[in-house]
Amino acid sequence: MKLERKFKSAFSEKLIGWYNKNKRDLPWRKTSDPYEIWVSEVMLQQTQVDTVVPYYKKFLERFPDIKSLAEASLSDVLKVWEGLGYYARARNLKSAAEIIQKEHGGEMPDTHDRLIKIPGIGPYTAAAIASIAYNENYPVVDGNVLRLVARIMRIEAPPGKKGTKSKFVQTCRQLMPKGQASAFNQAMMELGALICTPHRPKCSRCPVSFFCQAYQTMKDPSILPLKATPKNKPHFNVAVGIIWNNGKILIDQRPEEGLLGGLWEFPGGKQEPGESLEECLEREIKEEMNIQIRVQGPFLTIPHAYSHFKITLHSFQCQHVGGIPKPKKAIDWKWVSPKDITRYAFPQANKKILDALLRNL
Ligand code: SF4
Repeated sequence: MKLERKFKSAFSEKLIGWYNKNKRDLPWRKTSDPYEIWVSEVMLQQTQVDTVVPYYKKFLERFPDIKSLAEASLSDVLKVWEGLGYYARARNLKSAAEIIQKEHGGEMPDTHDRLIKIPGIGPYTAAAIASIAYNENYPVVDGNVLRLVARIMRIEAPPGKKGTKSKFVQTCRQLMPKGQASAFNQAMMELGALICTPHRPKCSRCPVSFFCQAYQTMKDPSILPLKATPKNKPHFNVAVGIIWNNGKILIDQRPEEGLLGGLWEFPGGKQEPGESLEECLEREIKEEMNIQIRVQGPFLTIPHAYSHFKITLHSFQCQHVGGIPKPKKAIDWKWVSPKDITRYAFPQANKKILDALLRNL
C-alpha cells in the first residue's frame, strides 16, 4: 500500500514529538556509542526492559568495549549473562566481537551493509545499530512495532504468516522520515511499549490515534495483530543429580553449539517411557558420565518452558559410588565445592536448584 506524503509527515511529526516528551530515562538512550547500543539491542530481544537494565549496566562494567569482550573467556561472558536467558545471544555477541576485534581493529563497522556481514549480527540487530547509532534509514521491527503497525494500518494477517512480515517492514520504511531513523525507530518501539500495549491500549492518550485505522474503524483494536494458532509444546520429564563426593558436587559443561551452549549444569537427562525418575537418573549418569551413583532422595522439582518445548526438571540428591567421569557429550566436568560453585554460569532452571541447595546447606 502506498502512503500519502502528507500522512507520513504528519504521522512522524506527532510520533517523534510525543517520544521527545515522554521517552523513558534508559541507560542506552544516553549514548550514541554503537557498541553500547549493540549490547542493549541484543539484550532487549525477547526480554523486558526492567529485566535488561541491571544486566546491561553490569555487562558494560565488565566488558566496556569490543576488545574486552573479544578477549574474555566464554565462561566469563555467560556468567555475566546468567539468568537473562536465550544464551545464544551472548555467544553470538562474543563471537562477533572477536571478529570485529580481529578484522576491523576493534572498530564497530559503521554501515548496515558492513554490519550484516559480521557472523553473529543478524538483520534485526544490524538494522537497529545502523539506524540508532548511525541514523541510517533502516526500519527496526520488534514485537512492539509489529503490534503498532498492525493496528495503525489494520493489517489482518498474523505477522508470523509467510510473506506478512515484509508488509510490516515496508510500511515502517514508508513511514520513516529521511534523516530521522534513530528517533523514529525508538519512538515506534516506545509507543508500542507504553501506549499501544497488547491488552487495553491507551488509545485516548495515543498521539497517532487520528491515523490509526484500527482505532477509527474497529470496536476493539487490541484484537490485532491476529495470532497464529498456537502449537502445543511437547513436554519432557528430566531427572538431574546433585552428585556428592567428599563434600564436592559434580557439574558438567554443555557443548558450545546448541541449546544453552557453554553453560554448566547438573548431569542427567530425559525420562524414557516405562522407567521411574530414579531409574532414568541412574541410566543417564551411566550413559552420559560413565559413573555409578546411588540416588538418595528427591530434592526440588522445577517446571520450565523453552521456546519449543516444556520440561519438568526433577532434581535428586545422589552419592557417587564409583568411576571417573568420562562424558559422552559434555565438553568439561568438575567436582566443585559449594563455596566455588557460584563461579560457574548455570541455565535458569538449574540455577533455581542451585540457589535452593545453597540455602539449605
Ligand atoms: S490508537 Fe490505540 S490502537 Fe491505535 S496505535 Fe494508538 S494505542 Fe494503538
